[in-house]
Amino acid sequence: MAIEEIKKTLGQSKLIAVSKLQPVQKIRELYEKGQRQFGENYIQEALLKFEELKDLSDIEWHLIGHLQKNKVKNIIGKFHLIQSVDSLELAQVLSKQCESKNIQQKILIQTNIACEESKTGFSESLLKKIWPEITKLPNLKIMGLMTMPPLAENSNEVRPHFSQLRELRNYLKTHTDLSKHPMTELSMGTSHDYLIAIEEGSTMVRLGTILFGERPSRSVM
Ligand SMILES: *Cc1c(COP(=O)(O)O)cnc(C)c1O
Repeated sequence: MAIEEIKKTLGQSKLIAVSKLQPVQKIRELYEKGQRQFGENYIQEALLKFEELKDLSDIEWHLIGHLQKNKVKNIIGKFHLIQSVDSLELAQVLSKQCESKNIQQKILIQTNIACEESKTGFSESLLKKIWPEITKLPNLKIMGLMTMPPLAENSNEVRPHFSQLRELRNYLKTHTDLSKHPMTELSMGTSHDYLIAIEEGSTMVRLGTILFGERPSRSVM
């Protein structure tokens, strides 16, 4: 779908163009249409793209894929928002590395609302339990929550997962120093379910296929 058409349906929700596995030329094309926020999943691919696209210096890069602790040092200060903070240990490593470079890193907490084995992220109960600890980390600024719900045949089946993420965010807000951690963002909704996510209060949708077409099966970089 054309980006102009998609944007008409987004309301207040921000569009993150998910460019994983897509060639840099496609990123340039969307950039020329005014798109500035892009999401990448794989560190090595992202670093190559930053290099190739460094003339487009006002792009805001979002990390939306799993981040291994041993890769953290390679990416400090390079992502506007790390959406995929999925363990307390990762958050601790991230804060520590940011401290040594005197950086405040904006993050989202990846939440595995449906408790799927195949996905990383905090269960609701674990997140509530470790909340005092994760919010104490000095160099992270928690902007909100992110989720990737189960694939569903009928897109209405995902609605409860989105509303649950919103409720969880609202609950956590009442247990948070909002001057340090704004907790304003709900990153939810991909190509097949973003319209429902928006109805449930999404503030950013992460769209790949619907914007770029099918992804190549491996990186073209
Ligand atoms: C790939 C990916 C997306 C985009 O999915 P589409 O179905 O292509 O829109 C969104 N979020 C995450 C975390 C992804 O890995």
